[in-house]
Amino acid sequence: MKALEQRLAGGGGRTVVLTVAAAALGWLAVLPLLGASDSTLLTMTLMFTAVAVAVNWNLTGGFTGYVDFGHAVWFGVGAYVTAIMMSLQADGVGTHWPPIPAIVLGAVVAGVLAALIGRATMRLKGPYFSVAMLGTFVAMREIVRTWGGLTGGGVGLTLPPYLNRPLFYYLELALVVGLVAFVWWLRRTRFGAALVAIREDEIGAQMRGIATTRLKVATFSFAGASTGLFGGLWAYQNTFVDPDVAFTEVRTLDAVMGTLLGGLGTVAGPVLGSVVLYWLREVLWANLLDYHLVAQGLLLILVVLFMPKGLMGLAGRGGPSLLKVWGDGRSRSRGGEVAHRGEEAAEESHPATPEPAGAMMTVEGSRITKRFGGLTAVDRVDIEVGAGEMVGLIGPNGSGKTTLFDCLSRILSVDEGEIRFDGRDITRLAPHKVARLGVSRTFQVIRVYRDLTVRENMELSIQWGRIGVRGLFRRTDEATRAKAERLMAFLMLDGLSDEPAGTLSGGQRRLLEIGMALMSDPKLILLDEATSGVNPTLVEDIKDRLTAVNAQRGVSMLLVEHNVQFVADLSQRVIVLDTGAKLAEGSPSQVMEDQAVIEAYFGADAAAAAPGGAREPSDGAGEQ
Ligand code: ADP
Ligand code: MG
Repeated sequence: MKALEQRLAGGGGRTVVLTVAAAALGWLAVLPLLGASDSTLLTMTLMFTAVAVAVNWNLTGGFTGYVDFGHAVWFGVGAYVTAIMMSLQADGVGTHWPPIPAIVLGAVVAGVLAALIGRATMRLKGPYFSVAMLGTFVAMREIVRTWGGLTGGGVGLTLPPYLNRPLFYYLELALVVGLVAFVWWLRRTRFGAALVAIREDEIGAQMRGIATTRLKVATFSFAGASTGLFGGLWAYQNTFVDPDVAFTEVRTLDAVMGTLLGGLGTVAGPVLGSVVLYWLREVLWANLLDYHLVAQGLLLILVVLFMPKGLMGLAGRGGPSLLKVWGDGRSRSRGGEVAHRGEEAAEESHPATPEPAGAMMTVEGSRITKRFGGLTAVDRVDIEVGAGEMVGLIGPNGSGKTTLFDCLSRILSVDEGEIRFDGRDITRLAPHKVARLGVSRTFQVIRVYRDLTVRENMELSIQWGRIGVRGLFRRTDEATRAKAERLMAFLMLDGLSDEPAGTLSGGQRRLLEIGMALMSDPKLILLDEATSGVNPTLVEDIKDRLTAVNAQRGVSMLLVEHNVQFVADLSQRVIVLDTGAKLAEGSPSQVMEDQAVIEAYFGADAAAAAPGGAREPSDGAGEQ
């Protein structure tokens, strides 16, 4: 197995794959000319349909990480809209539309419904989303069954016959090749990269300025429309729809299985897997009769357990495993806390150079309060950071520092108080918009996109507000690449640029987060324990880099630290929190000598010990 992996992963692998793909396409192109029977052409057309549905499923399930158990609903919707528009009903009512507009309308209705339903269900994550979509599927089938006047109820609808199989064959072949080419291109644009960022860490992506809701719902809607299109084509060829054939869960299952078999989250995986699955079944169907579903079930289990990255994984080009994408849902579901509400206005433009604006405050929070149930984690805190200023924020573990950061970057909604950034009220602004105004942050629990390389992580952390819709559909430009290279060199990461971020040491990941924070030319960086888990030499390097960034670019910083000496060295002013409230504020030396601070921070016993030393508090909360 390993030897095969290495062979395929090498430079020759790509040539082999391309040659096989070209040969297969050539064969498919001439198949009808070689006198293939209508039933062979129908079999092939149904295979194209299965491939298309799997490719669409993979857009949300594989790239974006939203595993959809109800995807076949869009197939049914497309099929039914087409059937309703074209059907010849017994009583003579019916619209008798010609096929093309009917099929296109089916795709549009599926796309619009997917946008509306995705808007609601994509607030959920992991298994919750999967089950919500399964529910949507079942509900839609029952609606169709019940709404007899329009849909023919359980009896179904008959369409005018149409028997030009070769035409359908070529049409679907062209559509499926076009779809795969489109997905291949999309994955290489910033849009495609952003989808992967959503899968890897949705909250991190928001806080780096990606309009996650808009992108994931747009993708879901496109996948729905595309599957709806193939549903309409299928209805026309089948000349008959009823709830059970148009809405069958097997179609979703096949898409999931085909994608997993081929390779989740890759472009070629769903194509390869669906084709293999389709032929396996044709063979198994013929030879195993009633046992073919058992065989298919066993195959699925074997793939998930022993080939988690599918056939593409064998070729060294695998994406993530299902368990990672799906299981992560729970740990990521703190997204339920995400405060941003529905509407996302049009992109706003920002001045290209974030010049510090005189004596104006960069960020000004007044009486910020955040409660978790009965616990007041942040209690009426006033906090200001001036333009170009470096301010330290210290306090014992659990005193509310991270929560205050979450409020300032707006992933948590504040219960009371007001936050202004650059004079603008951001108290209710969505997190990605706050990022786009010029707020970057790093995280106590490091948030890098682990499956992506260091370079990809950097290139994904651009100023998203500035690229516009067209920029979204382009590849990373030269200037951004050069900037990423410069910053990687500045942060001593240049030797690691092609390594997946998940393989870096804790300290290197901290540096990468700082690099990502700098990529968007922020005006303010919120650093949450940028030195915890980092070895002492690297701490000195980080200190040095932060000082340079502040001096050269006038970036303001708010530093949360356990390492008191680090804060004292870097900050002009220090704010001390204790149990959510501000305990003291002043110059580092003033604060370190404050009796209340010493007691709160080091405990009453230590109050007599030398103040202002480079001591770390004893709570030892240097977790990653
Ligand atoms: P710090 O960063 O200063 O160590 P935190 O802001 O992480 O402190 O936590 C402040 C308090 O709020 C702690 O008591 C913590 O247990 C609590 N807390 C933080 N996040 C949540 C949450 N999502 N739900 C409930 N309580 C929370
Ligand atoms: Mg914290």
